[in-house]
Amino acid sequence: MLIDNHNRVINYVRLAVTDRCNLRCNYCMPESGIAFARRSDLLSIPEMQRLCTVLAELGVDKIRITGGEPFVRKGVMKLFGHLSELDSLREISVTSNATLIGPHIGEMQRMGIKCVNISLDAIQPETFAKITRRDEFDKVYGNLMKLIASGIEVRINCVVLGEQNISEIYPMMEFQEKYPVRVRFLEEMPFNGGSRDFKGLEWNHKKILGHIRERYPDFEKVPAPMTATSVNYRIPGHAGSFGIIPAFSRTFCGSCNRLRITATGDLITCLYGKPVANIREPLRQGASTLEMRGILEEILGQRSKDGFEAQERFGPVTGSSMTSIGG
Ligand code: SAM
Ligand code: SF4
Repeated sequence: MLIDNHNRVINYVRLAVTDRCNLRCNYCMPESGIAFARRSDLLSIPEMQRLCTVLAELGVDKIRITGGEPFVRKGVMKLFGHLSELDSLREISVTSNATLIGPHIGEMQRMGIKCVNISLDAIQPETFAKITRRDEFDKVYGNLMKLIASGIEVRINCVVLGEQNISEIYPMMEFQEKYPVRVRFLEEMPFNGGSRDFKGLEWNHKKILGHIRERYPDFEKVPAPMTATSVNYRIPGHAGSFGIIPAFSRTFCGSCNRLRITATGDLITCLYGKPVANIREPLRQGASTLEMRGILEEILGQRSKDGFEAQERFGPVTGSSMTSIGG
């Protein structure tokens, strides 16, 4: 089992399989993209498979595949296949923009993938196009409907971006009223790769909830595991539920159980920090499970207690992009 210097068990890994993406969400990266990693620096699919096997041996029981957009990475289904064969994994999940997931839904179901997070910041096509800088709404909506029909649990991540999409909050609430999904409203974080200025957060979790309360005063809290990042609510009679993720306010750090691994093998112990080691070369040189355990124990032994301490320790976070951090 992996335990950090604050006695938190680390059993959840978010693995980015690419830093590339077919959308250009303006809160994530600039229109022109970022300096994407060289292909030779990316972990190969077999390297990721080995890494996940070792992580599972070390007590990690939940792996989320993310990116960039996971489905632009060739071979990602092979990786899912491998994960589905690791008996000790309790949960395999993915975060996707839903543009390319459609043809893979059946196979994902057969592999036992039970939960998919879809990023959708607008349910009105014009707002979607402005935010993502691409005209892919119909495809995304169609795939969202397919996912819901498949019975896979769907969570929608909606980043609250002030005037860009406040008008989307009530339509999103109407969506969860009608469909069995959990819509999670995220506070915006300053990781947009220089796409635009981040002048502090206006729409924090309290303001988002207050706005929802004005239209929907009768929500009740849903119990959540200690390690959950979202505070969840439901409204009697609604098919779905909603939640709020205080990603910028960072109220959940005390129970953080996660480690991020980027597409190039960087190890990130806190979103508000910087990479603290890289696992690619050890993997390529055939490091044993014990050696990899040593690397992980060393970095987890120096983990910041929360995102504020990490930010202080590692310096300004502006300039980083979620597509390379691995959201
Ligand atoms: N491309 C996939 C997607 O969009 O779902 C996976 C990668 S994306 C970087 C992972 C998550 O990070 C998405 O839910 C996205 O909305 C969120 N994200 C990206 N930039 C963010 C920011 N600046 N603040 C808050 N969330 C952000
Ligand atoms: Fe791509 Fe996801 Fe970033 Fe949007 S949030 S640009 S979909 S990686």
